[in-house]
Amino acid sequence: MATRRLATSAGEASFDHGAQFFTAREPAFAARVARWAAAGIVAPWPAAGHEAFVGSPGMNAPLRDMASRLEVLWYSEVTAISRGTQGWHLQGAGVDEGDFEALVLAIPAEQAARLLAPVDTPMAALAEATPSQPCWTLMASFDTPLAFANDSMRDAGTIGWAARNSAKPGRNGPESWVIQASPAWSAAHIELPGEQVASLLLDALAACSPVSLPKPIAASAHRWRYARSGGNGEAALWNAELQLGVCGDWLLGPRVECAWESGTRLAGMLTVAP
Ligand SMILES: Cc1cc2nc3c(=O)[nH]c(=O)nc-3n(C[C@H](O)[C@H](O)[C@H](O)COP(=O)(O)OP(=O)(O)OC[C@H]3O[C@@H](n4cnc5c(N)ncnc54)[C@H](O)[C@@H]3O)c2cc1C
Repeated sequence: MATRRLATSAGEASFDHGAQFFTAREPAFAARVARWAAAGIVAPWPAAGHEAFVGSPGMNAPLRDMASRLEVLWYSEVTAISRGTQGWHLQGAGVDEGDFEALVLAIPAEQAARLLAPVDTPMAALAEATPSQPCWTLMASFDTPLAFANDSMRDAGTIGWAARNSAKPGRNGPESWVIQASPAWSAAHIELPGEQVASLLLDALAACSPVSLPKPIAASAHRWRYARSGGNGEAALWNAELQLGVCGDWLLGPRVECAWESGTRLAGMLTVAP
C-alpha cells in the first residue's frame, strides 16, 4: 500500500504504485475499514467496483495512521536475525540492535525465507515454497486528460491493470496514470532497464487509446519483484519456544485484506512472556 510522488511541470503528481484498491469481504476487516472511512482515512472508489476502497489522500494513509501510534524505524533493512540468551538480535544499517523478547516478520515470502533459514527451518521451507509473481509498474503524468471513457481498465494485452490515479478520491495534481503489466509480461521482462519498460508500457497504453497519446510530462517505472503473493492457507505462524512469528499476505493470498487478516491472526497467537 504505497504512494509515490513525482515532480512535474504541472505540479506534484501522486501515484498509488502498489495496491490499487482493496475490498473488505470479512466482517472484522469490514468493521476496520468502516472506522477508517469514518475518520476520512479511506474512501470508496466506485471506478474499481462497488466494494472498492482506496486510502485517502494516498493508498498509504491507513499505514501512516497505524504507524503514528508506534515507534517505526523507516528505511532500515534487517539483513540478519539471530537469537541469543538475551533474546532476538537484528542486524542491518540503521536497525535498532538492542535485544528483543519476540520477533515478528511481516515481509514477502522470498525475503522472509532468507532471514528465517538460519533460525527456523520449517518456517523457511514454507516461505520458500510460496513464491510470488512480479509486477512492472509505470507511473505517468500528462498535461491534459487522456481520452479514456473509464478511469480503470484490466487485462488489455501487456497491461494487467491501468487506472487514472488522479481520479481517485482526495487526489490533487495533474492527470496521472498507473499502468501495471501482467504477471507474465513482468516475469518475461524482469531484468529490462526501467526506461525501456516505461517506453513499452506507454506504447501498450497508447494501443488502447482511441486517440494518440500526448507525451508524458513525467514517467517512471517501478519493479515490484514480489508483487502477487502465493498464499498457502496457514494464516500466520508462531513458534512459542523461539518467540518468533510470521505474518503477511503470502500466508493467505495476494490481497490487502489477507495481509490484515494474517497480522490479526498472529496477534491472537502471540504469547510474549511477562
Ligand atoms: C503492484 C501491486 C499491486 C497490488 N494490487 C492490489 C490490489 O489492487 N488490491 C489488493 O487488495 N492488494 C493488492 N496488492 C497486494 C497488497 O499490496 C498486499 O497484499 C499487501 O500490501 C501485503 O501486505 P504485507 O504487510 O503482507 O506486506 P508488504 O506490504 O509487502 O509490506 C512488507 C514491508 O516490509 C518491508 N521489508 C521487507 N523486507 C524487509 C527487511 N529485511 N527489513 C525491513 N523491512 C523489510 C518492505 O519494504 C515492506 O514495506 C498489490 C501489490 C502490489 C505489489
